Amino acid sequence: MSYSLYLCRFVGGDTAPMDETAIRDVLDPVTLAGTTAADSPGSPEFRELEAEDGGTADVYGGTRGLTFHRFSPGRVLDLVAELARRTGAVVIPGDGPAILTTEAHRRHLPEGFRAEAIVVPPPALTGQAISLVISPQPEVRQRPILPQFPYHPNPVATGSVAASDEPCVCCGQERGWVYTGPVYAADAPAAGICPYCIAFGTAAERYDASFADTVEGDVSQDVVTEILERTPGFTTWQSPHWLTHCGDGTAFLGPAGTKELTAYPDAIDHLRRQCAAWTWPPEQVEDFLGSLDKDGGPTAYLFRCRVCAAHLAYADFT
Ligand SMILES: [Zn+2]
Ligand SMILES: [Zn+2]
Repeated sequence: MSYSLYLCRFVGGDTAPMDETAIRDVLDPVTLAGTTAADSPGSPEFRELEAEDGGTADVYGGTRGLTFHRFSPGRVLDLVAELARRTGAVVIPGDGPAILTTEAHRRHLPEGFRAEAIVVPPPALTGQAISLVISPQPEVRQRPILPQFPYHPNPVATGSVAASDEPCVCCGQERGWVYTGPVYAADAPAAGICPYCIAFGTAAERYDASFADTVEGDVSQDVVTEILERTPGFTTWQSPHWLTHCGDGTAFLGPAGTKELTAYPDAIDHLRRQCAAWTWPPEQVEDFLGSLDKDGGPTAYLFRCRVCAAHLAYADFT
């Protein structure tokens, strides 16, 4: 590989020092040779790396930023990932979007990096994840990593995001994924928005759109905005609403039928209580709970509380 990777921490748009101990812990064991700057004795400003798998890299810099030149794929990228995880630094490929470990870091990036940056949470940030971002493989196409949606953790599994090779109708970029759920707006395209435009809030802003109808319960306006405008919605028979618990929005786990709900007795109880509140006789409630179908109505929608992990559900039908 001929390009380079830059690793740096940002606070308020400016570079901030990374933890030197973390850099030493990660790089010293694989440093073959190094030269020390006259003005910063103790810490090398150039290192020749050789990783356990034989991969190599030339590394320049120190706590204010590290540049990996002529790096091999493999273990060297795992080291870059480990440094990013441990220091909270951003990985900036020479050619490709910056990689953040948390959405909270986006606002600290210099302006030019903000919109494009991709969030890869620490457990998922590996050398392999960095490879996906820096070397898309047209032959065997691997999809880019999806943005992180706290209230909709796996939108591919729930059916709200699907693989697509079409450019996004909002940003014009081929992101590899398309949102397939509902869009609530007067003048929004019905289909073709990528999940990044949802995550960044650009689609909501451009089309004055939301992706769910209402948020039920008492949560802060920030949570409501995050759910309605920056989270992929889901397809329902009636207008979808988002459940809340413990003062926060819940995570949507997907549509569910009687079969899928058996693993979530707390969600079934929650549904049973709602049916009882409709003054249905008990037999009718049990018939209803036994007739739920993931693909054809009536359908339940399963959620998990992000605070206490309780499962909740509501159901609707045509
Ligand atoms: Zn887009
Ligand atoms: Zn809860």
